Amino acid sequence: MAMIENETRTRRGTCPAHGQVLAVKSLPKTKFPFLITGPARGLAALRPYHCPECGAKVSLDTQPAGA
Ligand SMILES: [Zn+2]
Repeated sequence: MAMIENETRTRRGTCPAHGQVLAVKSLPKTKFPFLITGPARGLAALRPYHCPECGAKVSLDTQPAGA
């Protein structure tokens, strides 16, 4: 199970339950050939970030400032 190491990405977002949180998502590291990690990273990139406390899907703060 230690074949692919994960790296954790964090982003500021809003949890429905906790408000502003540092949302987390783990991606497979790219130290393996792209053939292996490419698709895995691609899938992971599509996955939402989650609240570190409750695991709920977090909406990221991507709105342009002043909109
Ligand atoms: Zn939460």
